Amino acid sequence: MSDTAALLTRRRRLLGTQAPLFYEQPLHIVRGEGVWLFDADGRRYLDCYNNVPLVGHCHPEVVAALSQQAATLNVHTRYLHETILDYSERLLATFDPSLSMVLYTCTGSEANDQALRIARHCTGGAGIICTNLTYHGNTTAVDQVSPLFYGKVAPYPEVRAIPFPDSYRPLRGLSGRALAEAYAAEIDRAIESFDTAGIGFAGMIACPIFANEGLPTVPSGYLELALGKVHAAGGLFIADEVQAGFGRCGEMWSHQLHGITPDIVTMGKPMANGYPMAAVVTRAGLMESFRDAVMYFNTFGGNPVACAAADAVLTILERDGLAAHAQRIGDRVRDGFRQLAEHHDLIGDVRGDGLWIGVELVQDRSSREPATSATQRVVEGMKARGILLNRIGEFGNVLKMRPPLPFAEEHAELLLTTMGEVLATL
Ligand code: PMP
Repeated sequence: MSDTAALLTRRRRLLGTQAPLFYEQPLHIVRGEGVWLFDADGRRYLDCYNNVPLVGHCHPEVVAALSQQAATLNVHTRYLHETILDYSERLLATFDPSLSMVLYTCTGSEANDQALRIARHCTGGAGIICTNLTYHGNTTAVDQVSPLFYGKVAPYPEVRAIPFPDSYRPLRGLSGRALAEAYAAEIDRAIESFDTAGIGFAGMIACPIFANEGLPTVPSGYLELALGKVHAAGGLFIADEVQAGFGRCGEMWSHQLHGITPDIVTMGKPMANGYPMAAVVTRAGLMESFRDAVMYFNTFGGNPVACAAADAVLTILERDGLAAHAQRIGDRVRDGFRQLAEHHDLIGDVRGDGLWIGVELVQDRSSREPATSATQRVVEGMKARGILLNRIGEFGNVLKMRPPLPFAEEHAELLLTTMGEVLATL
């Protein structure tokens, strides 16, 4: 039996047959460096998919910061420690000044779980609005606002799942301001239905770039309208920046792209380049009220090692100007895909912000019928040629790319040339 086959057998026995894996033939990755991953046979892959290693796989400065702290002290956050406070000050400085307090967790799921608790505690309501194809994590409460994996209709009484805003497959064929208003009107309807059911309204949770929904082009003004409606009904708006945050979109936070200031922001994934670290940031009044009522403590969340790693990430992000870099290279990649679209009818839509790149493949540009199996062949074909990316969206027909931010011009060229070759084989 080959190594891969043996590993698969052990894995199925130990983790279960349904534990998810990428690709028809799973990869056995043993090493990472910058934008590259290496498998057990020494084969190199250009990583166009992994957002957690934000500043590059195994960045030496992050490794040094966390090793040094791990060799000095690692305890929980119930002792005084400068690293935690230094990092908190730096992190909070990246937000609107109203968002001035932080609570640490280990995962994005936990961060969203606490955000829901804060919203429910501070409003006295229970009803939460989410979008219909989203994922916010895996705790019992957060799973209820993650319809991506349970279908389109929220079966939970305290949750209303509304259509995510999409400009390519727009609601009722609308466009421009009318489209933004039509999607926002779904929020009114959800709030009314909470009223009718006698359920107090707590707020809305959304990823500002709808990364799990398929990276749609958000109709201009939608998030501002959404925030206004949530506030008018006495609710709080939670921006889930767990996937979107930390410079990838060209701004530090993706809600900043839309010119809004949420009440609560959650973050995680790339925060410490792979070391478990996540957080909730909110206004002092909300945090104090919550902490006053609830004894929140997290054994591992925000410990000095996590803060040291996260601090190194911020240093690299800022010093190397990675947000501006992401914007520049992302634009280059999107231009390249638009050029490919001149020769390949399969490409229906090219979108994204910074190094968030979504490319929707369709069988026919006028009917926009999804090209789901072709998209799968592209993902596998790219892998066979040494490039890793994936697909998402309601129909599984959106190529999703979000490489480590040191992704350079030469990597963009390799991605685009290889994509041209793969599209030519279909
Ligand atoms: N929110 C969003 C938008 C996510 O994409 C994810 C993970 N894919 C989570 C929350 C959950 O984060 P974690 O896996 O760290 O619990």
